[in-house]
Amino acid sequence: MQFIDLKAQYAALKTEMDSAIHAVLDHGQYIMGPEVAALEEEISAYLGVKHTITCANGTDALQLLYMAYGIGEGDAVFVPDITFIASVEPACMLGAVPVFCDVEPSAFNICPEGLERQVQAVVREGKYRPRAVIAVDFLGNPAQYDALQAIAQKYELLLIEDAAQSFGGDYQGKKCGALGNSAATSFFPAKPLGCYGDGGAVLTNDDGVADLCRSLRVHGKGASKYENTRIGMNSRLDTLQAAVLRVKLRALREYEMERRQEIAARYDAAFQQELQLLLVASGNRSAYAQYAILAKDHMEREKILTILNEDNIPNMVYYPIPQHDLPVYVKTNYYGELFTTATDYCSRTLSLPMHPYLNEATQDSIIKAVLLAVKYGK
Ligand SMILES: *Cc1c(COP(=O)(O)O)cnc(C)c1O
Repeated sequence: MQFIDLKAQYAALKTEMDSAIHAVLDHGQYIMGPEVAALEEEISAYLGVKHTITCANGTDALQLLYMAYGIGEGDAVFVPDITFIASVEPACMLGAVPVFCDVEPSAFNICPEGLERQVQAVVREGKYRPRAVIAVDFLGNPAQYDALQAIAQKYELLLIEDAAQSFGGDYQGKKCGALGNSAATSFFPAKPLGCYGDGGAVLTNDDGVADLCRSLRVHGKGASKYENTRIGMNSRLDTLQAAVLRVKLRALREYEMERRQEIAARYDAAFQQELQLLLVASGNRSAYAQYAILAKDHMEREKILTILNEDNIPNMVYYPIPQHDLPVYVKTNYYGELFTTATDYCSRTLSLPMHPYLNEATQDSIIKAVLLAVKYGK
């Protein structure tokens, strides 16, 4: 059994995938070949955004955006206390300070009230300019954009969507990746749309931001590659990865996202009496990058993990440590926040196998093991 079964996906797509990869080998344009432009157009059409600028990975996509918006020294960047470090790390690289915000207790996305508390604390302190809020669609489930937009407007903050985990998800009729001022996503193999290596993209409706990102991803190029007008990066998506992603995007659109919904619904139905689950607000769709459950406390979580491991059922904890507790951030100002919800979540959560090729018999064996573990864990 696999936690995310990329081999089963390849088996399902093999004929098409092999010919897409061989087409690149045949034409030989390994950097910025025609598949890159074709993929960018297909992603823009699927998400309903004006510009897709692919790049080397999701972390770079965020960095390109932070650079395009001129985020750096003196800026405070607000980020949920539960996420992957890459959400805010590139802003720190550019000299900005991270300000962690607690999460809300239904989907464990950034808490709008917690965000406003932190923004006010930064304003009161007067040392940094509140500049941007990074809304992470946690595990694929969209953040509360209406409430976040209102706060962003009130305090003149940029609202940037970290859609690394939510490609294929929806928020109130819009696609994840099309929310906020601009968004970034990742094509790391385990993400809902993953390639066979590293990849990422900036997604935006802003022509100016798009132009800047296109320049920044190739050493700050101007009209030509050797007429550089700014300091940039080397962050392109390989043509081979673009070819892989075009095949996988079609599968995601045609059935994979539907399969994820069906599998999540089966898990939900089996667990809802026994366990706390993550709520997907009505009108939204999670991309289910992960399917997470919550034990009643840390002890019960550890017992469930032990039993799953004994049964060889793959499992992961996303995430074991809230951002504010990471060793790298020991000197960060927390503005008196206690991060109660984030800390509690990290001590109780675990994730189960979730991918579009999980068959019912396998899923039933996972469900059975979890329910038994919960029973013995009590
Ligand atoms: C994976 C991930 C990233 C970074 O993407 P990479 O492609 O691994 O650089 C950023 N933010 C979140 C929330 C992620 O899960």
